[in-house]
Amino acid sequence: MAQTPRNPTRPVQIGSLTVGAGNPIAIQSMCATKTADVGTTVAQIEHLLQAGADIIRLAVDTKADALALAEIRQRTKANLSCDLQENYRLAADIAPVVDKIRYNPGHLFHHERTMPWQDKVKFLVDVAGENNCAIRVGVNCGSIDPAQREKYPKEDRINPMLDSALEHCELLDKLGFTRYVVSLKNSDPAAVVEANRAFAARRPDVPLHLGVTEAGMPPEGVLKTQRAFEQLISAGIGDTIRVSLTVPAFEKEQEILAGRKILNDIAAGRFVGMQTEGSQGLDIISCPSCSRVENSAFVDLAVKVREATRYAASHAISIAVMGCRVNGPGETDMVDLGLWCGPKYVNLKRGEVTLGSFTYEEILPRLKQELDTLIAERNA
Ligand code: SF4
Repeated sequence: MAQTPRNPTRPVQIGSLTVGAGNPIAIQSMCATKTADVGTTVAQIEHLLQAGADIIRLAVDTKADALALAEIRQRTKANLSCDLQENYRLAADIAPVVDKIRYNPGHLFHHERTMPWQDKVKFLVDVAGENNCAIRVGVNCGSIDPAQREKYPKEDRINPMLDSALEHCELLDKLGFTRYVVSLKNSDPAAVVEANRAFAARRPDVPLHLGVTEAGMPPEGVLKTQRAFEQLISAGIGDTIRVSLTVPAFEKEQEILAGRKILNDIAAGRFVGMQTEGSQGLDIISCPSCSRVENSAFVDLAVKVREATRYAASHAISIAVMGCRVNGPGETDMVDLGLWCGPKYVNLKRGEVTLGSFTYEEILPRLKQELDTLIAERNA
């Protein structure tokens, strides 16, 4: 990427590498194994390293995960990033053994609700600072800070994300902590481009982690991501990337290989994604899965949904398939038909309305029924 002009971001050290400040764009992936299963998770980390991963993320939701992470640290030299969701206090357990902590501003509200979010961020900053850790402020379209959401009309996909990211940067700066990167993710590549452009215009100094969240299955998921990355990276925006793909746990190297190919294509001027149209037809969104997946049948289900709905390819309808309750309920609110998977049942939604819970065997015919109704209503 040497010949592509890059934004003048500041350097942020993450383990053995530095992102920003013109350094090569780092490629990330995330483990989809159960973090507490140390042997399998270490095997996945090594698999991703062999594929060329620069940073590997894991999810930690419990004390047991945090304990496992300490053991994982002993067994790998990978640059490790840890994903925190609601339980921000787990940062104290994990910061000593990872290189970066990712928190989501929209998830800081679930625990200790009376405590101001600013105090929670201060806690994270103190812990990161004491343990030589970087931070990612990871803003996601499906879990926006409710206070930011309320400021704008429901259809505004950009400003709530942007304001949330900017106010967290402002607080981190005020606290004297500058070792952070930011991400603004959406499942629509056009929204990713718009949000990241707007952020980079306001904060060209802050390194950006780029990603199209829930891009779905390859090859469609790769193309969606490529469309966004081409527009951003060729404009000098982006210091680290993740291609989020719905693939089985031990095929996660596809995320790294796709990321490398996209960067090579952009460097060579091959703009493949921009030549493909944005989705005017059926759009299947599916999460990349991670350790939080509640039933391993999830990836299979996503593939079956794609096959079973091909007949509706020409209809401008969005369907989301999500792997767990952490992001499933919120992110399915924004699509026409949403499925989020529990251990035994799949929850089916139409927009924000829940239609019911169905077994993994029952869900496909029920989804098709709902899809047919939606098509008939729109045709009428
Ligand atoms: S929806 Fe759940 S399983 Fe899927 S990537 Fe997000 S946290 Fe992981």
